[in-house]
Amino acid sequence: MTIALNETHDASLRSWVTSANDGNTDFPIQNLPFAVFRRAGSSEAFRGGVAIGDQVLDLAALRAAGLLTGDAAGACAAAAKPSLNDFMAMGSTAWSALRLALSRLLRVGAAQEASVQACLLAQRDVEYSVPAKIGDYTDFFTSIHHATNVGKLFRPDNPLLPNYKWVPIAYHGRASSIGVSGESLHRPVGQVCGAGQTVPVVQPSRRLDFELELGIWIGTGNAQGKRIKVADAEAHVFGLCLLNDWSARDVQAWEYQPLGPFLAKNFGTTISPWIVTMEALAPFRAPFTRAASDPQPLHYLDAPAVWQSGSIDIQLDVLLETEKMRAAKQSAQPLARSNFVESYWTVSQMVAHHTVTGCNLQPGDLFGSGTMSGPTDESRASLLELTVGGKEPITLATGETRTFLEDGDAVILRAHCEKVGAARIGFGESYGRIVPAIDLT
Ligand code: MN
Repeated sequence: MTIALNETHDASLRSWVTSANDGNTDFPIQNLPFAVFRRAGSSEAFRGGVAIGDQVLDLAALRAAGLLTGDAAGACAAAAKPSLNDFMAMGSTAWSALRLALSRLLRVGAAQEASVQACLLAQRDVEYSVPAKIGDYTDFFTSIHHATNVGKLFRPDNPLLPNYKWVPIAYHGRASSIGVSGESLHRPVGQVCGAGQTVPVVQPSRRLDFELELGIWIGTGNAQGKRIKVADAEAHVFGLCLLNDWSARDVQAWEYQPLGPFLAKNFGTTISPWIVTMEALAPFRAPFTRAASDPQPLHYLDAPAVWQSGSIDIQLDVLLETEKMRAAKQSAQPLARSNFVESYWTVSQMVAHHTVTGCNLQPGDLFGSGTMSGPTDESRASLLELTVGGKEPITLATGETRTFLEDGDAVILRAHCEKVGAARIGFGESYGRIVPAIDLT
């Protein structure tokens, strides 16, 4: 099930794009993530691109240059389109063929260096769009630490509901308002009903929060009525990105019973432009663990490969940049650091669970992992948790304090993978900024 290591993962590979070789870049030649881009401020067509160092390899230009043959040429033609859905639908043989061809073209010593060089643009000169048309978006809840931390705020005696250890819990979210890094979002307005109140008021949210999550992009789908087996599930997944599930906690508290999140989550979700492929993540796989005292996964969520390598070691970071920090040219302040190995369920289990009913996934569908909090105070991956429901404000380096987000605040998500014997790879970032609410009148 898990992708085997191959020549594209070789940690000793170097690119003739020298910025890819500094050891700190998110985008060495071993990564090769996909995005959709165009020149910033232009009316050019969006097209697929691959990150290498501080450059973007323009796949439409590369296709036109005619340097690729066979499966890689077909894959490049699909990946050069204004959205990646057709490329995602081609499946892992095509994804792998293009990755291998790009790795060979970008290596030191490649005979085609000059021709490929002509297909590069600086990342600082481009803008991105959401990389695929997202038909459906599902947000999971797979950190047991987040589920427990949040549950404690509402139910101190019974924080974790009895279904949690059996069911990969999720809700169906809103795809239309998913936007790409760099966006500004208006503070949402909604119904809020404070403690002890019986009549709600309509007002801008005062408890606006982020959630540090990973996004999981479905590549190949399944026909309705046919489930995806857990052992086969990863072959259906194209790759991962960063995902900030903005959340209006005061709206959520009033509306969430009995059917779950609705307007508290539908006003915006910000993702990183780059999709790191499952193949690029192959060196960073880790065993899945489940305490012997916990219920073991039911049969449709269980397979040898889940236990061997179902988890992925991805370090996750969230930073806050206030208006005051921007004005003083101070760097953003780290708020929390966590890791995707904290997930109680694997990517393959999420896919298998989603389709056990026969629900059909489609190329370009997106899952959120759920807020990926870890077991420590430093790994609480939302303000709701970091401030204990708004009761313990955070003091920032500027002397400012925060319980929830203020207008002008920007939230930055980052992630990377690091391991001895492998090249460090990263996800770039998801940057989103909150601007004042639009008046209802
Ligand atoms: Mn979420």
